[in-house]
Amino acid sequence: MELWVRVFRDRAAGLDGDEWTLELNDSIEPGRTQRGWNQYIRNSYAQFRCSLCRRSWPSKQVQVLFHFSRESSLRRGTVRVRRFKQKCRRCSAARMEEPSFTVENIDVMVEKLMEKIRIRCYGEEPPESNRNLRFDGRIEGPHERLHCEACLKGICSQSPAQ
Ligand SMILES: [Zn+2]
Ligand SMILES: [Zn+2]
Repeated sequence: MELWVRVFRDRAAGLDGDEWTLELNDSIEPGRTQRGWNQYIRNSYAQFRCSLCRRSWPSKQVQVLFHFSRESSLRRGTVRVRRFKQKCRRCSAARMEEPSFTVENIDVMVEKLMEKIRIRCYGEEPPESNRNLRFDGRIEGPHERLHCEACLKGICSQSPAQ
């Protein structure tokens, strides 16, 4: 989590002098934003590790949900992040494990998030040349739908595969 906070702090500096904070929140739900909040959902690449058998696996279909809101009168803003989990397919009693992202992939997500914040909270125009930001990481094999928290919530297929 410190990695997320650090990357976000660097990128959020200079947002009209407002103070933005990022917090982890596993209770936010896709499609259910509170009044005055915006949503951004993004697909990325991450590693998981089973806390029972210690096996680790990569996934290129890891959903990350952001809810964000600016309180302009207080000169501050908040971003809530939920990183969807996956569980080991070998252990029958496996628990949902948190993904671990590289700093590069976090940076790609946060850069895109900042673009959304600038548009939705500061009324900026979308950038003309939309640089194609792709996550870094290759893997073979199908997505384990039964072991993916985002699939179980029906949101995996809704987010762009990039
Ligand atoms: Zn396991
Ligand atoms: Zn999925």
